Amino acid sequence: MRKGLTLVYTGNGKGKTTAALGLALRAIGHGQRVFMIQFMKGSAEYGEIQAARYLPHFTLVQKGLPTFVKKGEPSPEDLRLAREGLELAKQVIQAGEHELIILDEVNVAVDYGLLREQDVLELIDLKPEGVTLVLTGRYASDSLLGKADMVSEVKDVKHHFQRGIPSQPGIEY
Ligand code: ATP
Ligand code: MG
Repeated sequence: MRKGLTLVYTGNGKGKTTAALGLALRAIGHGQRVFMIQFMKGSAEYGEIQAARYLPHFTLVQKGLPTFVKKGEPSPEDLRLAREGLELAKQVIQAGEHELIILDEVNVAVDYGLLREQDVLELIDLKPEGVTLVLTGRYASDSLLGKADMVSEVKDVKHHFQRGIPSQPGIEY
Protein backbone atom coordinates (compact mmCIF):
# COMPACT_ATOMS: atom_id res chain seq x y z
CA MET A 1 0.00 0.00 0.00
CA ARG A 2 1.11 3.57 -0.70
CA LYS A 3 2.51 5.36 2.30
CA GLY A 4 1.05 8.83 2.55
CA LEU A 5 3.33 11.49 4.01
CA THR A 6 3.14 14.94 5.55
CA LEU A 7 5.43 17.33 3.71
CA VAL A 8 6.18 20.94 4.64
CA TYR A 9 7.75 23.65 2.49
CA THR A 10 8.62 26.72 4.49
CA GLY A 11 11.28 29.45 4.70
CA ASN A 12 11.64 32.97 3.34
CA GLY A 13 12.99 32.16 -0.13
CA LYS A 14 11.06 31.76 -3.35
CA GLY A 15 9.96 28.29 -4.43
CA LYS A 16 7.51 26.83 -1.90
CA THR A 17 4.26 27.03 -3.83
CA THR A 18 6.01 26.08 -7.05
CA ALA A 19 7.60 23.05 -5.35
CA ALA A 20 4.12 21.91 -4.35
CA LEU A 21 2.92 22.43 -7.91
CA GLY A 22 5.86 20.33 -9.10
CA LEU A 23 4.69 17.51 -6.84
CA ALA A 24 1.19 17.88 -8.25
CA LEU A 25 2.53 17.45 -11.78
CA ARG A 26 4.53 14.41 -10.76
CA ALA A 27 1.55 12.80 -9.01
CA ILE A 28 -0.71 13.45 -12.00
CA GLY A 29 1.83 11.61 -14.14
CA HIS A 30 1.16 8.54 -12.02
CA GLY A 31 -2.58 8.85 -12.51
CA GLN A 32 -3.03 10.17 -8.98
CA ARG A 33 -5.74 12.65 -8.04
CA VAL A 34 -4.66 16.00 -6.64
CA PHE A 35 -6.62 18.59 -4.65
CA MET A 36 -5.00 21.93 -3.92
CA ILE A 37 -6.45 24.67 -1.73
CA GLN A 38 -4.78 28.07 -1.87
CA PHE A 39 -5.32 30.02 1.34
CA MET A 40 -5.08 33.83 1.27
CA LYS A 41 -5.15 33.88 -2.53
CA GLY A 42 -8.07 34.75 -4.75
CA SER A 43 -6.87 35.70 -8.18
CA ALA A 44 -7.37 33.80 -11.44
CA GLU A 45 -4.22 35.57 -12.68
CA TYR A 46 -2.09 32.74 -11.29
CA GLY A 47 -0.85 30.51 -14.10
CA GLU A 48 -1.71 27.41 -12.09
CA ILE A 49 -5.42 28.36 -12.07
CA GLN A 50 -5.39 28.40 -15.86
CA ALA A 51 -3.16 25.31 -16.15
CA ALA A 52 -5.51 23.30 -13.93
CA ARG A 53 -7.98 23.25 -16.82
CA TYR A 54 -5.55 21.23 -18.92
CA LEU A 55 -4.62 18.71 -16.25
CA PRO A 56 -6.68 15.62 -15.45
CA HIS A 57 -7.51 14.89 -11.80
CA PHE A 58 -6.28 18.28 -10.63
CA THR A 59 -8.67 20.43 -8.62
CA LEU A 60 -7.50 23.85 -7.50
CA VAL A 61 -9.64 26.01 -5.24
CA GLN A 62 -8.75 29.45 -3.89
CA LYS A 63 -10.02 30.44 -0.46
CA GLY A 64 -8.91 34.02 -0.12
CA LEU A 65 -9.41 37.52 -1.46
CA PRO A 66 -7.33 38.93 -4.31
CA THR A 67 -6.11 41.63 -1.90
CA PHE A 68 -3.37 41.20 0.73
CA VAL A 69 -4.38 40.22 4.23
CA LYS A 70 -3.27 42.77 6.85
CA LYS A 71 -1.32 41.03 9.56
CA GLY A 72 -3.14 41.40 12.88
CA GLU A 73 -6.13 42.99 11.12
CA PRO A 74 -7.75 40.36 8.92
CA SER A 75 -11.14 41.38 7.51
CA PRO A 76 -14.23 39.30 8.36
CA GLU A 77 -14.16 38.06 4.77
CA ASP A 78 -10.51 36.92 5.11
CA LEU A 79 -11.50 34.95 8.21
CA ARG A 80 -14.60 33.48 6.62
CA LEU A 81 -12.73 32.28 3.54
CA ALA A 82 -9.90 30.79 5.60
CA ARG A 83 -12.41 28.85 7.72
CA GLU A 84 -14.13 27.66 4.55
CA GLY A 85 -10.76 26.48 3.30
CA LEU A 86 -10.17 24.57 6.52
CA GLU A 87 -13.60 22.89 6.31
CA LEU A 88 -12.99 21.97 2.68
CA ALA A 89 -9.58 20.55 3.58
CA LYS A 90 -11.21 18.43 6.32
CA GLN A 91 -13.78 17.04 3.91
CA VAL A 92 -11.29 16.27 1.16
CA ILE A 93 -8.79 14.65 3.54
CA GLN A 94 -11.41 12.46 5.20
CA ALA A 95 -12.96 11.42 1.89
CA GLY A 96 -9.62 9.89 0.90
CA GLU A 97 -10.40 10.25 -2.80
CA HIS A 98 -7.23 12.21 -3.56
CA GLU A 99 -3.74 10.81 -3.18
CA LEU A 100 -2.20 14.28 -2.91
CA ILE A 101 -3.70 17.22 -1.03
CA ILE A 102 -1.91 20.57 -0.99
CA LEU A 103 -2.73 23.34 1.47
CA ASP A 104 -0.89 26.28 -0.05
CA GLU A 105 0.01 29.18 2.31
CA VAL A 106 -1.73 27.43 5.20
CA ASN A 107 1.30 28.19 7.41
CA VAL A 108 0.88 31.91 6.73
CA ALA A 109 -2.85 31.67 7.47
CA VAL A 110 -1.93 30.33 10.94
CA ASP A 111 0.78 32.94 11.49
CA TYR A 112 -1.63 35.74 10.51
CA GLY A 113 -4.29 34.45 12.90
CA LEU A 114 -6.76 33.36 10.22
CA LEU A 115 -6.64 29.75 11.39
CA ARG A 116 -5.84 28.10 14.70
CA GLU A 117 -2.63 26.11 14.75
CA GLN A 118 -4.40 23.28 16.56
CA ASP A 119 -7.00 22.96 13.80
CA VAL A 120 -4.31 22.59 11.16
CA LEU A 121 -2.39 20.01 13.24
CA GLU A 122 -5.61 18.03 13.61
CA LEU A 123 -5.91 17.79 9.82
CA ILE A 124 -2.76 15.66 9.83
CA ASP A 125 -4.41 13.22 12.23
CA LEU A 126 -7.44 12.90 9.94
CA LYS A 127 -5.29 11.82 7.02
CA PRO A 128 -5.96 8.29 5.77
CA GLU A 129 -2.84 6.12 5.43
CA GLY A 130 -2.44 6.48 1.67
CA VAL A 131 -2.94 10.25 1.46
CA THR A 132 -0.04 12.69 1.19
CA LEU A 133 -0.56 16.15 2.65
CA VAL A 134 1.59 19.13 1.65
CA LEU A 135 1.60 22.33 3.71
CA THR A 136 3.34 25.38 2.33
CA GLY A 137 4.14 28.87 3.48
CA ARG A 138 6.58 30.87 5.55
CA TYR A 139 6.55 30.74 9.34
CA ALA A 140 5.55 27.06 9.74
CA SER A 141 5.07 26.48 13.47
CA ASP A 142 7.46 24.31 15.47
CA SER A 143 4.68 21.83 16.28
CA LEU A 144 3.98 21.41 12.58
CA LEU A 145 7.65 20.87 11.85
CA GLY A 146 7.67 18.25 14.61
CA LYS A 147 4.70 16.40 13.18
CA ALA A 148 5.83 16.40 9.53
CA ASP A 149 7.69 13.55 7.82
CA MET A 150 9.66 15.95 5.65
CA VAL A 151 10.47 19.62 6.00
CA SER A 152 12.31 21.70 3.44
CA GLU A 153 13.20 25.27 4.25
CA VAL A 154 13.72 27.48 1.22
CA LYS A 155 16.36 30.04 2.08
CA ASP A 156 16.43 33.50 0.54
CA VAL A 157 19.89 34.01 -0.89
CA LYS A 158 18.91 36.75 -3.31
CA HIS A 159 15.76 37.73 -5.16
CA HIS A 160 15.29 39.66 -8.40
CA PHE A 161 12.83 41.99 -6.60
CA GLN A 162 15.90 43.48 -4.94
CA ARG A 163 17.05 44.47 -8.43
CA GLY A 164 13.76 46.19 -9.02
CA ILE A 165 12.43 43.56 -11.44
CA PRO A 166 8.66 43.38 -11.01
CA SER A 167 6.62 40.15 -10.83
CA GLN A 168 6.57 38.19 -14.05
CA PRO A 169 3.87 35.90 -15.45
CA GLY A 170 5.10 32.31 -15.27
CA ILE A 171 7.56 33.18 -12.49
CA GLU A 172 5.65 35.00 -9.75
CA TYR A 173 2.10 34.22 -10.84
P1 ATP B 1 6.50 30.72 -5.46
O1 ATP B 1 5.01 30.92 -5.46
O2 ATP B 1 7.15 31.51 -6.54
O3 ATP B 1 6.91 29.29 -5.40
P2 ATP B 1 6.82 30.99 -2.64
O4 ATP B 1 5.57 30.21 -2.51
O5 ATP B 1 8.05 30.35 -2.09
O6 ATP B 1 7.07 31.40 -4.15
P3 ATP B 1 5.74 33.06 -0.96
O7 ATP B 1 6.45 33.19 0.35
O8 ATP B 1 4.43 32.35 -0.99
O9 ATP B 1 6.74 32.42 -2.02
O10 ATP B 1 5.61 34.50 -1.58
C1 ATP B 1 4.83 34.77 -2.68
C2 ATP B 1 5.50 35.75 -3.58
O11 ATP B 1 6.54 36.46 -2.96
C3 ATP B 1 6.14 35.08 -4.80
O12 ATP B 1 5.64 35.72 -5.93
C4 ATP B 1 7.60 35.29 -4.69
O13 ATP B 1 8.28 35.63 -5.90
C5 ATP B 1 7.74 36.42 -3.73
N1 ATP B 1 8.89 36.11 -2.90
C6 ATP B 1 9.22 34.91 -2.40
N2 ATP B 1 10.38 34.95 -1.73
C7 ATP B 1 10.81 36.22 -1.82
C8 ATP B 1 11.96 36.93 -1.34
N3 ATP B 1 12.89 36.31 -0.64
N4 ATP B 1 12.04 38.24 -1.63
C9 ATP B 1 11.10 38.87 -2.32
N5 ATP B 1 10.01 38.26 -2.79
C10 ATP B 1 9.85 36.97 -2.56
MG1 MG C 1 3.76 30.55 -1.79
